[in-house]
Amino acid sequence: MDDLSERLSSMMRNFDEETKDRFCHSIILASQTGRYESCWCHSGKIYKDCHLERHKHRKISEGEQRKQLSKIFDRKKYCSASFDSTNCKLPIKGAHTVQRGRVLSSMAKDGHVGTFYRNLNGFEQLKDIKTGIKKEASIFYGFCEYHDTELFKYIELNEFTATPENCWASSYRAVCHEYYQKNAAKEAIVWQLENLDKGYGLSEQLIIQERLLLAKRDIFKGFEDISSIKNKYEQARINGNHNLLSSYLIMLDKPLCLSVSASMSPYYNVSGAKIQNLGDPMYLFQHFALSTVTVNGCAAYVVSYLKEHDVIEKYLEDVFEKGFDFVKSWLTKCIFAYAENVFFNLDWWSNLVGDKKAAIYNLAISENYTVHFEIDDLVSSEIPGSIVSIQSI
Ligand SMILES: [Zn+2]
Ligand SMILES: [Zn+2]
Repeated sequence: MDDLSERLSSMMRNFDEETKDRFCHSIILASQTGRYESCWCHSGKIYKDCHLERHKHRKISEGEQRKQLSKIFDRKKYCSASFDSTNCKLPIKGAHTVQRGRVLSSMAKDGHVGTFYRNLNGFEQLKDIKTGIKKEASIFYGFCEYHDTELFKYIELNEFTATPENCWASSYRAVCHEYYQKNAAKEAIVWQLENLDKGYGLSEQLIIQERLLLAKRDIFKGFEDISSIKNKYEQARINGNHNLLSSYLIMLDKPLCLSVSASMSPYYNVSGAKIQNLGDPMYLFQHFALSTVTVNGCAAYVVSYLKEHDVIEKYLEDVFEKGFDFVKSWLTKCIFAYAENVFFNLDWWSNLVGDKKAAIYNLAISENYTVHFEIDDLVSSEIPGSIVSIQSI
């Protein structure tokens, strides 16, 4: 088989029935679409205005892609607190995804923390991590000045105390960031569908379109899931009923060197049994939010989920009943495996031995929602301190 047919058959092997049908349909359509008919790519546009001459366009360079995507991801500006939009006060400012006052500053070295930067292929190479480190990395343009202050003032200005209101605030920031990212990803995938196959022949166009359509399906679905969760967080706030959420506060006995703000949706429980994505396309994925705070100068993590999310409730019960050492391993491994929005202390990173750096980096670049992975002490053995308490709130 030549390279193209080999790639085609390996692609087809991974398709579900619906995708296979659509792809075959596209191939047949592509060979016979008339100039004024709907394009074979499912864009809804007329063939003439869509794919008819796409092969004649100039290919998009990697540099152009990078520029366009970072424009979409970094420059989108709106206030996420739409439930209270009458109080919005412009400008939209660069809001920190991780608490600035206590969390970032407690980890920073000369005003800087470490993070992994994404590029088109996932992340930058390991060698670039050190150069890609700056405090601004934690900023997103997802809140107006008023709401960035108002919604989070209790946890910004005061020492974190374990109340439902404070857990809500810490977790809502994580949920809004996830929403912002997914919203940008929607725009990005639409741009990619319209541009990435420019300058390619029909067979390449078919492959590129199908790959992107699959990604589009997941991204749009993910956006629906997080929108529904965000909406329920806001209902909790509007009704003053923060008890719609359940939270845990995990406290360590050493200062922070690893922080995260993310919303996660595990497919597998810790024993490897599938708990979500069981085939129902209408199913809304359940999430938990994981965010970082400090208590008495020590590291602490808030885990929150909607009470109605029974799958997550059971998932977390399974984790927590295994004891503090396991929880530390689970927590720190999940942070790198499941979250993109991770920041760490630079001295901590530079003191890791090469093998550890590579293993943690590999964990961070692998896509782990959809595969089961073993909880071990890969990361936790490098994180100072022990868990001293897990409080249910
Ligand atoms: Zn088209
Ligand atoms: Zn606002």
